[in-house]
Amino acid sequence: MHIHWFRRDLRLTDNTALHAATQSGMEVVPVYILSNWRKNHPWTGLARQQFLCGCLESLAKNLATIGGRLIVRQGGAVAELRKLIRETRATSIFTNRDPDPFGRVTEVAVAKMAAEEGCKLVLCQDIAIHERDEVRTGTGGVFRVFTPYAKAWRKLPKPGSLPKLSTIRTPENISSLPLPTLETRGLAGRVNIVEAGEDSARTRLKNFLGRKIFQYDATRNLPEIDGGSRLSQDLRWGLISPREVYWRSAEAAARGNAVERKSAEVFINELIWREFYLQILWHFPEVLESDFNPKYAQVEWKSDDAAFARWCAGETGFPIVDAAMRQLNATGFMHNRLRMITAMFLTKDLHIHWREGERYFMQKLVDGEIASNNGGWQWSAGTGADAAPYFRIQNPWLQTARFDGEGKFIQRWLPELAQVEPRKFCEPPGLPLARNYPLPMVDHHRERDVTLELFRRGLDF
Ligand code: FAD
Repeated sequence: MHIHWFRRDLRLTDNTALHAATQSGMEVVPVYILSNWRKNHPWTGLARQQFLCGCLESLAKNLATIGGRLIVRQGGAVAELRKLIRETRATSIFTNRDPDPFGRVTEVAVAKMAAEEGCKLVLCQDIAIHERDEVRTGTGGVFRVFTPYAKAWRKLPKPGSLPKLSTIRTPENISSLPLPTLETRGLAGRVNIVEAGEDSARTRLKNFLGRKIFQYDATRNLPEIDGGSRLSQDLRWGLISPREVYWRSAEAAARGNAVERKSAEVFINELIWREFYLQILWHFPEVLESDFNPKYAQVEWKSDDAAFARWCAGETGFPIVDAAMRQLNATGFMHNRLRMITAMFLTKDLHIHWREGERYFMQKLVDGEIASNNGGWQWSAGTGADAAPYFRIQNPWLQTARFDGEGKFIQRWLPELAQVEPRKFCEPPGLPLARNYPLPMVDHHRERDVTLELFRRGLDF
């Protein structure tokens, strides 16, 4: 008997470890181990837990249709897997490798426990098309800059996709906890998130490949149009495999004309950014604690709880920032362009440490993923791998003019500004835009100078 330990791979199609576990024809116990979360982890929150509950429900249904049964347990992975090995006399645990430092520590502990129990831990590559050590510089070093990394990534032969699992046999007598709900997770309220589960992820991919991928290059920066694939949470939770997204996008590219092909290639480039940050986290796990670029370690960020609270609530008086933060709070999603704008605003206009924004995003995002989130925050702060130089500070007013010039996104999320002429969102107002909307909390030009000075002083330290 084998155990398949589901983690960030909540799907039946093209799942490397699950496929390997079922190959021998033996019975397989597919298990998901819920963490003992007590609402005290600073990096998780309602939206992602809500999505997880939906994904597990869908996974359980899909397993049942092919003869299997999802076993749910709760607690520490080592203790729960040990119990399961003893109950089932399993000889192997299959799982897909997790590149984050917490996952890696757990894998070492599980391997040790499994050996004590006379069981084998089989770790498979699944989360990325090219993992950790595969993409190397000519001299075997680690890439710290995206463009040469992407070039090397593109040159490597790509693994194919595996078919959807058609049958799995799970023994009858294994006990399982009921599927989790928000109530059993101790959470109240709901967020208006995208639909969870493998089938919904596949529908999103299909819709994107049908048309949007060909306009991606032209529309991806416009939050009102939302020309993205909306697959980030699906890749984060493994509802769909990165191999399948890559191959099907490459097929779409081959079908298109020159403009469409370029658009699909721009999309594939974003998939490579995801893998770039995964390998940065793999090789430099310290980025979770400190600046990737140690040159900036002495920059003096400010601590300002009141300003941070206004940013979180979307009450800064900068309409584009506020609309973005309200989208995040209401849906657990924020458009990529807006993630950059809000992150730059927090770090460069309010001078608050990127770690505070990183934590807030992790609490709110359905797609919250520590490698990409840390990469995005350090990029915006100017401290990261291949980051925006610290002196290139986006002006939120000009960003509004470029990416939401008609104010449609802003007016959707800030109904109090519905009657305001959209051009007024593109420059600092002299008077309040509406009775119940604040004046900008800071002067961007002044704060830009303060940032430059803070970085210069940090560099001179
Ligand atoms: P698309 O534009 O359709 O891109 C396709 C896929 O490529 C995405 O689903 C995602 O997996 C990947 N991708 C796209 N852009 C990036 C990028 N810049 N870095 C890494 N991967 C990328 N993405 C996350 O998945 N989780 C996060 O927690 C996260 N936090 C971020 C924080 C900040 C401050 C910034 C600037 C970016 C962050 N991103 C994060 C990257 C990006 O914003 C989202 O992946 C994207 O908005 C998701 O929308 P989409 O699926 O429509 O993306």
